[in-house]
Amino acid sequence: MRFRNKPWAREKIEQHPEYFILEPEKYKGKWQEAFSVKQPLHIEIGTGKGRFITGMAKANPEINYIGIELAESVIVSVLDHLVETELPNLRLLNVNATDLKDFFDKNDVDRIYLNFSDPWPKVRHEKRRLTYKSFLKNYEDILPDGGEIHFKTDNQGLFEYSLMSFSEYGLLLKYVSLDLHNSEFEGNIMTEYEEKFSSKGNRIYRCEVKYR
Ligand code: SAM
Repeated sequence: MRFRNKPWAREKIEQHPEYFILEPEKYKGKWQEAFSVKQPLHIEIGTGKGRFITGMAKANPEINYIGIELAESVIVSVLDHLVETELPNLRLLNVNATDLKDFFDKNDVDRIYLNFSDPWPKVRHEKRRLTYKSFLKNYEDILPDGGEIHFKTDNQGLFEYSLMSFSEYGLLLKYVSLDLHNSEFEGNIMTEYEEKFSSKGNRIYRCEVKYR
Protein backbone atom coordinates (compact mmCIF):
# COMPACT_ATOMS: atom_id res chain seq x y z
CA MET A 1 0.00 0.00 0.00
CA ARG A 2 1.29 3.49 -0.86
CA PHE A 3 1.06 5.99 1.97
CA ARG A 4 0.03 9.57 1.28
CA ASN A 5 1.64 12.06 3.60
CA LYS A 6 -1.13 13.35 5.86
CA PRO A 7 0.48 15.67 8.41
CA TRP A 8 -2.91 16.16 10.13
CA ALA A 9 -3.41 12.41 10.72
CA ARG A 10 -1.72 12.25 14.15
CA GLU A 11 -3.73 15.22 15.41
CA LYS A 12 -7.00 13.66 14.21
CA ILE A 13 -6.11 10.33 15.84
CA GLU A 14 -5.44 12.10 19.14
CA GLN A 15 -8.83 13.85 18.90
CA HIS A 16 -10.62 10.47 19.00
CA PRO A 17 -9.57 8.68 22.20
CA GLU A 18 -12.98 6.93 22.17
CA TYR A 19 -11.59 4.80 19.33
CA PHE A 20 -7.78 5.14 19.27
CA ILE A 21 -5.90 3.65 22.21
CA LEU A 22 -2.87 5.91 22.52
CA GLU A 23 -1.04 4.00 25.31
CA PRO A 24 -1.86 0.35 24.57
CA GLU A 25 0.81 -1.04 26.93
CA LYS A 26 -1.41 0.13 29.83
CA TYR A 27 -4.04 -2.45 28.86
CA LYS A 28 -1.68 -5.45 28.66
CA GLY A 29 -3.41 -8.33 30.48
CA LYS A 30 -6.61 -6.29 31.02
CA TRP A 31 -8.02 -5.41 27.61
CA GLN A 32 -11.57 -5.91 28.85
CA GLU A 33 -11.14 -2.56 30.65
CA ALA A 34 -10.84 -0.82 27.28
CA PHE A 35 -14.43 -1.81 26.41
CA SER A 36 -17.81 -1.23 28.04
CA VAL A 37 -18.75 -4.95 27.90
CA LYS A 38 -16.56 -7.95 28.76
CA GLN A 39 -16.73 -10.32 25.79
CA PRO A 40 -14.33 -12.16 23.43
CA LEU A 41 -11.69 -10.03 21.69
CA HIS A 42 -10.84 -10.44 17.99
CA ILE A 43 -8.10 -8.37 16.33
CA GLU A 44 -7.26 -7.60 12.72
CA ILE A 45 -3.64 -6.93 11.82
CA GLY A 46 -3.07 -4.59 8.87
CA THR A 47 -6.55 -3.06 9.11
CA GLY A 48 -5.94 -0.50 6.37
CA LYS A 49 -8.86 1.92 6.08
CA GLY A 50 -11.03 -0.30 8.27
CA ARG A 51 -13.94 -1.45 6.15
CA PHE A 52 -13.65 -5.04 7.44
CA ILE A 53 -13.21 -4.29 11.14
CA THR A 54 -16.04 -1.72 11.26
CA GLY A 55 -18.30 -4.11 9.32
CA MET A 56 -17.47 -6.94 11.74
CA ALA A 57 -18.06 -4.72 14.78
CA LYS A 58 -21.48 -3.70 13.44
CA ALA A 59 -22.45 -7.27 12.52
CA ASN A 60 -21.23 -8.86 15.77
CA PRO A 61 -21.99 -6.66 18.81
CA GLU A 62 -21.26 -9.67 21.07
CA ILE A 63 -17.54 -9.52 20.12
CA ASN A 64 -15.00 -6.78 20.93
CA TYR A 65 -12.68 -5.83 18.06
CA ILE A 66 -9.33 -4.09 17.71
CA GLY A 67 -7.99 -2.94 14.34
CA ILE A 68 -4.18 -2.72 14.24
CA GLU A 69 -2.47 -0.69 11.54
CA LEU A 70 1.09 0.54 11.18
CA ALA A 71 0.40 3.58 8.99
CA GLU A 72 -1.30 6.51 10.73
CA SER A 73 -2.12 8.10 7.35
CA VAL A 74 -4.15 4.97 6.53
CA ILE A 75 -5.83 4.06 9.83
CA VAL A 76 -7.10 7.61 10.27
CA SER A 77 -9.56 6.84 7.43
CA VAL A 78 -11.40 4.36 9.69
CA LEU A 79 -13.07 7.42 11.19
CA ASP A 80 -14.84 7.97 7.85
CA HIS A 81 -16.72 4.69 8.43
CA LEU A 82 -17.82 5.87 11.86
CA VAL A 83 -19.40 9.23 11.13
CA GLU A 84 -22.95 8.24 11.99
CA THR A 85 -22.45 5.01 13.91
CA GLU A 86 -20.97 4.65 17.36
CA LEU A 87 -19.32 1.29 17.86
CA PRO A 88 -18.65 0.63 21.56
CA ASN A 89 -17.09 -2.73 20.66
CA LEU A 90 -14.35 -1.29 18.40
CA ARG A 91 -10.93 0.14 19.28
CA LEU A 92 -7.95 0.99 17.05
CA LEU A 93 -4.19 0.77 17.53
CA ASN A 94 -1.64 2.60 15.38
CA VAL A 95 1.27 0.21 16.11
CA ASN A 96 3.57 -2.28 14.38
CA ALA A 97 2.56 -5.97 14.70
CA THR A 98 6.22 -6.80 15.40
CA ASP A 99 5.56 -5.29 18.87
CA LEU A 100 2.34 -7.19 19.69
CA LYS A 101 3.85 -8.75 22.81
CA ASP A 102 4.44 -5.28 24.29
CA PHE A 103 0.67 -4.74 24.29
CA PHE A 104 -0.95 -8.15 24.74
CA ASP A 105 -0.46 -11.05 27.17
CA LYS A 106 -1.17 -14.74 26.54
CA ASN A 107 -4.99 -15.22 26.31
CA ASP A 108 -5.73 -11.49 25.81
CA VAL A 109 -6.88 -12.11 22.23
CA ASP A 110 -9.34 -14.82 21.09
CA ARG A 111 -8.89 -14.64 17.30
CA ILE A 112 -6.63 -12.93 14.75
CA TYR A 113 -7.69 -11.79 11.26
CA LEU A 114 -5.12 -11.16 8.52
CA ASN A 115 -6.66 -9.67 5.38
CA PHE A 116 -4.80 -8.99 2.14
CA SER A 117 -1.48 -8.71 3.97
CA ASP A 118 1.36 -7.15 1.99
CA PRO A 119 2.86 -10.04 -0.05
CA TRP A 120 6.53 -8.98 0.09
CA PRO A 121 7.31 -11.25 -2.91
CA LYS A 122 11.11 -10.92 -2.78
CA VAL A 123 12.74 -13.77 -0.88
CA ARG A 124 14.95 -11.34 1.02
CA HIS A 125 11.76 -9.73 2.44
CA GLU A 126 10.23 -13.00 3.68
CA LYS A 127 10.59 -11.96 7.33
CA ARG A 128 8.24 -9.01 6.73
CA ARG A 129 5.31 -11.25 5.68
CA LEU A 130 2.69 -11.33 8.44
CA THR A 131 2.52 -15.14 8.08
CA TYR A 132 6.30 -15.62 8.59
CA LYS A 133 7.20 -17.91 11.51
CA SER A 134 8.32 -15.06 13.83
CA PHE A 135 4.86 -13.47 13.48
CA LEU A 136 3.22 -16.88 14.06
CA LYS A 137 5.19 -17.08 17.33
CA ASN A 138 3.98 -13.59 18.33
CA TYR A 139 0.37 -14.62 17.62
CA GLU A 140 0.79 -17.84 19.62
CA ASP A 141 2.03 -15.77 22.56
CA ILE A 142 -1.15 -13.68 22.75
CA LEU A 143 -3.83 -16.25 21.75
CA PRO A 144 -5.16 -19.05 23.99
CA ASP A 145 -4.28 -22.67 23.22
CA GLY A 146 -6.46 -23.57 20.23
CA GLY A 147 -6.65 -19.91 19.15
CA GLU A 148 -7.33 -19.22 15.48
CA ILE A 149 -6.01 -17.13 12.60
CA HIS A 150 -8.42 -16.34 9.76
CA PHE A 151 -6.59 -15.25 6.62
CA LYS A 152 -7.72 -14.08 3.18
CA THR A 153 -5.93 -12.69 0.14
CA ASP A 154 -6.14 -12.55 -3.64
CA ASN A 155 -2.41 -13.25 -3.91
CA GLN A 156 -1.91 -16.93 -4.82
CA GLY A 157 1.82 -16.85 -4.05
CA LEU A 158 1.29 -15.41 -0.59
CA PHE A 159 -1.56 -17.85 0.08
CA GLU A 160 0.54 -20.89 -0.86
CA TYR A 161 3.51 -19.57 1.14
CA SER A 162 1.25 -18.98 4.14
CA LEU A 163 -0.29 -22.47 4.03
CA MET A 164 3.25 -23.90 4.06
CA SER A 165 4.31 -21.58 6.87
CA PHE A 166 1.23 -22.47 8.98
CA SER A 167 1.82 -26.17 8.40
CA GLU A 168 5.56 -26.02 9.20
CA TYR A 169 4.71 -24.16 12.42
CA GLY A 170 2.32 -26.97 13.42
CA LEU A 171 -0.96 -25.13 12.95
CA LEU A 172 -4.04 -27.20 12.04
CA LEU A 173 -5.97 -26.32 8.90
CA LYS A 174 -9.69 -25.98 9.80
CA TYR A 175 -11.09 -24.46 6.61
CA VAL A 176 -9.82 -23.55 3.18
CA SER A 177 -11.45 -21.97 0.13
CA LEU A 178 -9.68 -21.39 -3.17
CA ASP A 179 -12.57 -19.23 -4.41
CA LEU A 180 -14.31 -17.57 -1.48
CA HIS A 181 -16.84 -15.57 -3.49
CA ASN A 182 -18.08 -18.72 -5.22
CA SER A 183 -18.12 -20.84 -2.08
CA GLU A 184 -20.81 -21.57 0.49
CA PHE A 185 -19.09 -19.43 3.12
CA GLU A 186 -21.67 -17.14 4.73
CA GLY A 187 -21.30 -13.75 6.36
CA ASN A 188 -18.20 -12.62 4.45
CA ILE A 189 -17.40 -8.96 5.11
CA MET A 190 -15.31 -7.46 2.34
CA THR A 191 -12.19 -5.40 2.88
CA GLU A 192 -11.19 -2.43 0.68
CA TYR A 193 -8.63 -4.58 -1.17
CA GLU A 194 -11.09 -7.44 -1.55
CA GLU A 195 -13.65 -5.12 -3.16
CA LYS A 196 -11.00 -3.70 -5.50
CA PHE A 197 -9.38 -6.95 -6.61
CA SER A 198 -12.51 -9.11 -6.79
CA SER A 199 -14.16 -6.49 -9.01
CA LYS A 200 -11.21 -6.96 -11.38
CA GLY A 201 -12.00 -10.68 -11.49
CA ASN A 202 -9.32 -11.90 -9.05
CA ARG A 203 -10.13 -15.02 -7.04
CA ILE A 204 -10.15 -14.66 -3.26
CA TYR A 205 -8.42 -17.34 -1.16
CA ARG A 206 -9.37 -17.87 2.48
CA CYS A 207 -8.31 -20.19 5.29
CA GLU A 208 -8.81 -20.70 9.03
CA VAL A 209 -5.97 -22.25 11.00
CA LYS A 210 -5.75 -23.21 14.64
CA TYR A 211 -2.94 -23.53 17.21
CA ARG A 212 -2.79 -26.85 19.05
N1 SAM B 1 -6.55 -5.26 5.23
C1 SAM B 1 -6.77 -4.12 4.36
C2 SAM B 1 -7.59 -4.53 3.17
O1 SAM B 1 -7.71 -5.75 2.93
O2 SAM B 1 -8.11 -3.65 2.48
C3 SAM B 1 -5.43 -3.47 3.96
C4 SAM B 1 -4.53 -4.32 3.12
S1 SAM B 1 -2.96 -3.53 2.78
C5 SAM B 1 -2.33 -4.42 1.45
C6 SAM B 1 -1.94 -4.12 4.12
C7 SAM B 1 -1.94 -3.20 5.34
O3 SAM B 1 -1.19 -3.83 6.36
C8 SAM B 1 -1.28 -1.85 5.08
O4 SAM B 1 -2.16 -0.80 5.45
C9 SAM B 1 -0.04 -1.87 5.95
O5 SAM B 1 0.31 -0.60 6.46
C10 SAM B 1 -0.45 -2.83 7.04
N2 SAM B 1 0.70 -3.50 7.69
C11 SAM B 1 1.73 -4.12 7.06
N3 SAM B 1 2.62 -4.59 7.94
C12 SAM B 1 2.13 -4.27 9.18
C13 SAM B 1 2.60 -4.48 10.49
N4 SAM B 1 3.77 -5.11 10.72
N5 SAM B 1 1.85 -4.03 11.53
C14 SAM B 1 0.67 -3.39 11.30
N6 SAM B 1 0.18 -3.16 10.06
C15 SAM B 1 0.90 -3.59 9.01
